[in-house]
Amino acid sequence: MHTKTLAELSLGLRQREYSSVELTKYFLDRIAKYDDKLNSFITVSSDTALAEAAAADKRLSTNEADILTGIPLAHKDLFCTNGIKTSCGSKMLDNFIAPYDATVVAKCKAAGMVMLGKTNMDEFAMGSSNETSFYGTVKNPWDINTVPGGSSGGTVAAVAASLTPIATGTDTGGSIRQPSALCGVTGLKPTYGTVSRYGMIAFASSLDQGGAIGHSAEDVALLLNVMTGFDKRDSTSIEIEPSDYTANLNNDIKGLKIGLIKEHFNEGLDAKVNQVLNTAIKELEQAGAIFQEISLPHSHLSVPIYYIIALGECSSNLSRYDGVRFGHRCDEPQDLLDMYKRSRAEGFGAEVKRRIMLGTYVLSAGYYDAYYLKAQQIRRLISEDFKTAFKQVDVILGPTAPTTAFKIGAKIDDPISMYLSDIYTISCNLAGLPAMSVPAGFVDNLPVGLHLVGNHLDEARILNIAHKYQQLTNWHRKTPIDFC
Ligand code: GLN
Repeated sequence: MHTKTLAELSLGLRQREYSSVELTKYFLDRIAKYDDKLNSFITVSSDTALAEAAAADKRLSTNEADILTGIPLAHKDLFCTNGIKTSCGSKMLDNFIAPYDATVVAKCKAAGMVMLGKTNMDEFAMGSSNETSFYGTVKNPWDINTVPGGSSGGTVAAVAASLTPIATGTDTGGSIRQPSALCGVTGLKPTYGTVSRYGMIAFASSLDQGGAIGHSAEDVALLLNVMTGFDKRDSTSIEIEPSDYTANLNNDIKGLKIGLIKEHFNEGLDAKVNQVLNTAIKELEQAGAIFQEISLPHSHLSVPIYYIIALGECSSNLSRYDGVRFGHRCDEPQDLLDMYKRSRAEGFGAEVKRRIMLGTYVLSAGYYDAYYLKAQQIRRLISEDFKTAFKQVDVILGPTAPTTAFKIGAKIDDPISMYLSDIYTISCNLAGLPAMSVPAGFVDNLPVGLHLVGNHLDEARILNIAHKYQQLTNWHRKTPIDFC
């Protein structure tokens, strides 16, 4: 059952081969059996899941069902879920029960999907290895001594081990794509403004974007059909007609121009990962795609400026956690200032504190022009680089991450080296572009991801290439041996 695609699962439900309650129990059982090894869930909401599944079964029996009605999913634990804990991986929100649903959650509910639970993540989505969570490190199902990537590490581990057929994630600098690459699943971050941020706990608002993580491009497209759409409660939501992300999956890719970023195939890229990509490029070439080299001359600046802009925004966003309205409050505060200070000191972990301090510094009156303003100017140059590139090619291809999954603990004391694991993904967030990671092979039994970047609102085209590639290859169908 857990190897079926969403379309197959949906067909099984409609043909009454199994009910949504049975399907939901099946995945809850898998979580119970396997998640001790992975730590991919923070909350498993069995009771509400079974109630939602029973409601979905009713809907299926009246033929008022949508394609994903009755299908289980998991949400990253930063999407607010009414009545169910939403922790954002932090002690600060360990006691927080959201009083409303995020738009993404509400849309999945309206489609009749069944929420299995909330997945583990780096604290406030800050990290590349899922080692900063208050709820402990998530393990990579391909080798439990390695990290799953971050910050959507719980989500990707749960999908890779088939504890859920599909899940949501968020991506501020790579948090859907880098972990998808490290765990061998398919993850897409849409164009900024496509998925509502209402009820999505903020890290860096000009970069954060929700997206979908599943086994295949087709599965991801199906969930995007549900998740996306204009929302007046998010001021950055794009007002466009809803699109069907599955519509172009089978288009011919003959003659499609794909750009290879010169700056991403350099000494920073692991040689064996490079080899895997070269094979994938040849396969796409045989399918008719035309490759040409392109340059993104400012791409080397993307990591440093991301860590100015994102940290500036996070220092401002996280100022709302003060022990007053919600979240952790210290015991017996002496006065208001003492409560602010101790609640924040106790509630936030080390990485979050590091970022708040740096972010406050770059926004301070004396340094704003030198850091934040400069970074915004470079952000514009990075966007211009992409604009120029998309005059030459339809899509851009490269590695998702410079290496395969690294050992747990290997980078936790070296923030710069950790930050560099997003070197290929971050510029897409700075430019607001859609991008995805697609499983492309293995190096020493660990998955490698292929990164596809599209022009604004051109998700359909990257999904098309990913789908064609997945018809030619089987990498997305592999299951880690201990979770078969
Ligand atoms: N790893 C990056 C960071 O730590 C990106 C995180 C994300 O996309 N949420 O900021």
